[in-house]
Amino acid sequence: MATLQAFSPLDGRLLGEYPVATADDISRTLQRARTAASIWSHTPVKQRCQILASFGELVLAELDAIVDCLRLTGGKVACEALLGEIYPLLDLLAYYRKHAPDILAERGVATSPFAFPGATAKVCYRPVGVAAVISPWNYPFQLSVAPLLTALFAGNAAILKPSELSLPVGQLIVDLFRRLDLPLDLVQWLPGDGSVGAQLIDAGPDLVFFTGSLAGGRAVMRQAAQHPIPVLLELGGKDAMLVFADADLPRAAAAAVYGAFSNSGQVCVSVERLYLQRQCHDQVLQRLLEATEQLRVGAGADAELGAMVSGRQIELIKAQYDDALAQGAAASGPLVCDGNFVRPVVLWNVHHGMRLMREESFGPLLPVMAFDSEADAVALANDSEFGLNASVWSRDIAKAERVAQQLQVGNWAVNDVIKNIGHAGLPFGGVKRSGFGRYHGAEGLLAFSYPVSGLTSRS
Ligand code: NAD
Repeated sequence: MATLQAFSPLDGRLLGEYPVATADDISRTLQRARTAASIWSHTPVKQRCQILASFGELVLAELDAIVDCLRLTGGKVACEALLGEIYPLLDLLAYYRKHAPDILAERGVATSPFAFPGATAKVCYRPVGVAAVISPWNYPFQLSVAPLLTALFAGNAAILKPSELSLPVGQLIVDLFRRLDLPLDLVQWLPGDGSVGAQLIDAGPDLVFFTGSLAGGRAVMRQAAQHPIPVLLELGGKDAMLVFADADLPRAAAAAVYGAFSNSGQVCVSVERLYLQRQCHDQVLQRLLEATEQLRVGAGADAELGAMVSGRQIELIKAQYDDALAQGAAASGPLVCDGNFVRPVVLWNVHHGMRLMREESFGPLLPVMAFDSEADAVALANDSEFGLNASVWSRDIAKAERVAQQLQVGNWAVNDVIKNIGHAGLPFGGVKRSGFGRYHGAEGLLAFSYPVSGLTSRS
């Protein structure tokens, strides 16, 4: 029997050993999920909401154990586990508990002149059946549980394929769901690497919700096309932060440090490119350097940055750092690694020919460039194959929103960073190579349903 071991990036300790799901496991899991889905889809939506709301109580009751598991498995600091993984979920639960019945309710539609006189038309929403949720390692709790819960609110069963780097978190998640009053096997999981994810898609669930890299997303889409099965892809980003000289500059500098370095930069909506209007460039850069210097990296209780998830991730950012320096960039310091702990680095004198400015870094590197006009800022921000998230900073809100509306992204913020992804009422997702499909909000729930239209003539 093949197994996968999980080691902590904090100190290398063995966290567990997991049997890799076989082809038989996958097919039996899918069969059981279909049985569970047929029961759950007939449970009235208000009752579904009540049962699912108790997931929040369970999370609060087990908070310490969950935070501990997230810290040990992902190397993150406790505060990041709470802010990035747990609070947004509680918000999502409250949002769907309140709004799912209305979002999923059938609605009347005006009839067209083609219908018989007196005819009525309506749209109803049905669950898709069984959703496969394939998730990454950077927020293994939030990015697994949010789509699982959404699938369940919409009336589906779900199968989780967590990242091979997050198996203890996958186990924890299914154990939590098993404690709810749900039909047997409504939420199951399959431990394994990408090949288990590929086999799961091959087995033919009714929808795939994939969060991960562009390369992974491409493979998933190719695989799903064989059936074909609908896929939602939440992929990488190269988020720009645009700071105009009339912004609250101390706040913008603090937000850039937070946005670039929290979770050691391993956030899909990290600030990956900082553009400063030339008049404030030197002043903000100075603040960034001072704030970055003071960041505490380590495993202690007072650390602000934890460990990166793996040596492979560190190699990726080293290659970008070396390429930038070879092409003339200046850096706040060398890339200092102590085990998986990496000190964050600010870089300037950068240009868009560097890998650092084109590829997702997913690590604690913050490149800074100057811009002159609004048009420059928009052109620089849009010069990327990705289109996930961006932010614009100015006290002139009309200008900031005008600029934001021209950015080729799925989500923007004015005078804030990162938060869109945690906002339960706002549909979140990307454009360009950051993927498609949305989660959160009405759109996120409807993505796990399909609309059925009905036309009734009275004679
Ligand atoms: P990854 O693509 O390597 O893996 C993601 C998941 O897909 C894992 O569970 C993996 O086992 C599985 N997988 C890999 N190949 C597969 C295949 N061929 N078929 C089916 N499943 C397969 O990504 P990662 O390194 O775990 O995560 C980091 C990436 O995720 C970054 O690019 C980051 O930006 C992105 N991300 C995006 C969002 C978002 O909301 N847009 C959120 C978090 C992370």
